[in-house]
Amino acid sequence: MQTFYGMAGRVIAKKNVNRNCNKCNACNSIQLEIIQYYHYLFWMIPTYPTKERVVAISCTKCEHLPITVPKELDKIANDFKATAKTPWWMYLGILLIFVFTFVRLKLYIDESIKP
Ligand SMILES: [Zn+2]
Repeated sequence: MQTFYGMAGRVIAKKNVNRNCNKCNACNSIQLEIIQYYHYLFWMIPTYPTKERVVAISCTKCEHLPITVPKELDKIANDFKATAKTPWWMYLGILLIFVFTFVRLKLYIDESIKP
């Protein structure tokens, strides 16, 4: 159950890696997903992203999640995590707060200079 304020995660990038699954042996079936976490307000408005990012590694055929990750795949995953861009909409709440504050301030200033 979601609350008024909280944290959620969303997949922001996916990439297939040229590796075989060590469970089902399917070719080129390993997929990396970058999950970015963000704070939200009013049950759903993303406000700002956290520094927390997670890489999910899975097989697209059997959905196996490897317990141990080979070193070269770990490096590919970390590079992918570092280069994935945070989507603009994760800052939507903070943008709305700035716009609301600016509009209220403008209205207040306009009211105070009225003769
Ligand atoms: Zn598999």
